[in-house]
Amino acid sequence: MTPVRTTCPYCGEIPVRTTCPYCGEITHLATTEIFLALHDGDGTTGDYSYTCPQCIRTGVHPATRTAVAELLSAGVVPIGRN
Ligand SMILES: [Zn+2]
Repeated sequence: MTPVRTTCPYCGEIPVRTTCPYCGEITHLATTEIFLALHDGDGTTGDYSYTCPQCIRTGVHPATRTAVAELLSAGVVPIGRN
């Protein structure tokens, strides 16, 4: 999972790269297509999920402290935070 640093010229989003276990690398996932659920506690780690645009399967991956920071800086809004 790596946010790309440049804005997509087609959709205006900052795309995020990740890997689908079925299709391989997904190079264009908009921040609005990623769901970040932070863990309880200090909320610096969590899980993120997305729907693969090619096979429509849902992928869920653990988000490390670094990944959470990257996703937040890319504009992903965390869900389900109590
Ligand atoms: Zn896929």
